[in-house]
Amino acid sequence: MDEMLFEVKPPALPVRGERAHFPVRRIYCVGRNYADHAREMGLDPAVEAPFFFSKPADALVRSPAVVVYPPATSDLQHEVELVVALQGGGRDLDAGRARACIYGYAVGLDLTRRDLQRTARDKGQPWDMAKGFDQSAPVSELVPAGECGHPRDGRIELVVNGVLRQSGDLSDMILDVEELLVRLSRLVELRAGDLLFTGTPAGVAALHPGDRVTARVDGVAALEVQISPPLA
Ligand code: MN
Repeated sequence: MDEMLFEVKPPALPVRGERAHFPVRRIYCVGRNYADHAREMGLDPAVEAPFFFSKPADALVRSPAVVVYPPATSDLQHEVELVVALQGGGRDLDAGRARACIYGYAVGLDLTRRDLQRTARDKGQPWDMAKGFDQSAPVSELVPAGECGHPRDGRIELVVNGVLRQSGDLSDMILDVEELLVRLSRLVELRAGDLLFTGTPAGVAALHPGDRVTARVDGVAALEVQISPPLA
């Protein structure tokens, strides 16, 4: 093996019931995969099909997490999402092969600097700085599909300081998990270690320093995040 100048550890997630961690290779996300959220963003879900973007793998933070309020925004927003973790991959998958690639599930937050996203959208610029900033991907423990099955319905919820902010059902996804993987595998080769954030239901809103966020998907897992003040 080639000698390296320094060591970089891959991000990893703890797995329920396992000592070994799940190493994270890439983080993919899908936008506008719940019709009610597309509408609250001022978009017509019948016209605007779901689409993919990504976050750097090291944007991952493990629950329970303290997330520092990020720089360059005054509108940090929460998006609770079911996260799919892959144990295999490939190109041009069909639905059956896509299902076989799934290792398990988690709950994640697709933290978003909404003001930067709106500016990028208006100017036709990339979303990277709106979506892929440091600590922008808090994720719960990972639950193997052998334990939680393949959840395709059930509540997905997010609570801030005890107040319910987002509540939806996994069955409201426009494209289901297999169809998302099928479509993504036509764009990139999927591999073991990849995560896919599958989109958020309505109710996205601003977070502030001091906020305590809890999020859960019924039958999967729960997540806890505290927002701390911005760095001086
Ligand atoms: Mn999202």
